[in-house]
Amino acid sequence: MAGERIGLFGGTFDPVHFGHLRLAEEAREAAALSRVIFIPAARSPFKSHRLLTDAHHRYQMLLLATAPNPAFTPSDIEIQRGGISYTIDTVRQLAAQMPHAQLFLIMGLDSLAEFPQWRKPLQIIQHCRLLVGIRPGYAPEPILAMLPEAIRNAVHLVPSVPLDISASQLRAFVREGRSLRYLTPDNVIEYIRNHQLYLEGEAPAEPKPLEGEAPAEPKSQEA
Ligand code: ATP
Repeated sequence: MAGERIGLFGGTFDPVHFGHLRLAEEAREAAALSRVIFIPAARSPFKSHRLLTDAHHRYQMLLLATAPNPAFTPSDIEIQRGGISYTIDTVRQLAAQMPHAQLFLIMGLDSLAEFPQWRKPLQIIQHCRLLVGIRPGYAPEPILAMLPEAIRNAVHLVPSVPLDISASQLRAFVREGRSLRYLTPDNVIEYIRNHQLYLEGEAPAEPKPLEGEAPAEPKSQEA
């Protein structure tokens, strides 16, 4: 559709939770988006310290969580592309597919703090404005102050209800046998239970370096 305003929301979504869903809804409302596309990363450059849950499961949980909202859809574009998922590649691909759409990138403040380290951030903001939701534990002012001006000018802070929920916390709750109710939709909880996800301790993504070997360089970019 010509001129359609579309939000792109990347992440690992391991698993999706109400912090993600609420941010997407607030961004949709604030920027009058007609759609929000949730894009699970195949592999995230910023989360190389642990093995992500199989992309198929993360995508299925997004399907369940977004089903009740007609404006929300997941996309498997990064899963299909495979390898490390760089946002610039996704944004370029989607901009080429939807040349008339106005694209917005949705993220939390913790991701904005890392945004200058992403691959080609200045090219990303040529394609989309950044819709940034507050996240408990992250103050907007110091993060905005340390951004290069071009990036800061692309940011629109989304007034949002702070929800102190993270996927790591949900994974830890499952391991501890604690309830996930009211942290993520019931159908996601059921999926986690049926597929016995998150019961094991977290596995490192890469083998530990042998003694005397230098540890792997931390990678930049994310989602
Ligand atoms: P993990 O705990 O595994 O690091 P996460 O909960 O941070 O995961 P991601 O999939 O890494 O979830 O996040 C995707 C995007 O959603 C990021 O831009 C992140 O800032 C944002 N986000 C995640 N949780 C929240 C939240 N509770 N409030 C606002 N933004 C959030």
